[in-house]
Amino acid sequence: MRTLPFSSGRRRFLAAVAALVLRQPARGASGAPPTPGPRDVCPVCGMLVAKYPSWVAILEVEDGPVRFFDGAKDLFKYLFQLRKGGGSRPAPRIARIWVTEYYGLTRVDARSAFYVVGSDVLGPMGHELVPLASRDEAEEFLADHKGRRILRFDDVKVDTPGKLDAKRFD
Ligand SMILES: [Zn+2]
Repeated sequence: MRTLPFSSGRRRFLAAVAALVLRQPARGASGAPPTPGPRDVCPVCGMLVAKYPSWVAILEVEDGPVRFFDGAKDLFKYLFQLRKGGGSRPAPRIARIWVTEYYGLTRVDARSAFYVVGSDVLGPMGHELVPLASRDEAEEFLADHKGRRILRFDDVKVDTPGKLDAKRFD
């Protein structure tokens, strides 16, 4: 019976570890964005996302898998597809969205980013919505890279990604 305190201590330890592990993927507002693994593919174009770290976009939905994209354009295509819904299941609620901003290569909230279209900087899938962290940076990028327009998140319409694919920036 002398082993009991030890084993109950060990059980407590394991319980604490389990609690820690369970807490780990918590989707608090301040948590760091997840990183794509070597096998994560973009659900829109099928490309391996980790090969393009400077273009990664990330979507977290409630009670669903994290999706990784090889650029903001494919993220938007996916978002519009989600909003359109389909089948009998309701569209999942969006928890958090990140894009990788051009100058600092940090992950920023997609809803607060500025996007330049029509520039001479191409992403893995051609013309992009190039994410910038601030309006100043977006204006600088627009001037330096012959961009056409600066869009905010809500300015991106359902036909915007397709227009980019067709090299239209109106
Ligand atoms: Zn893609």
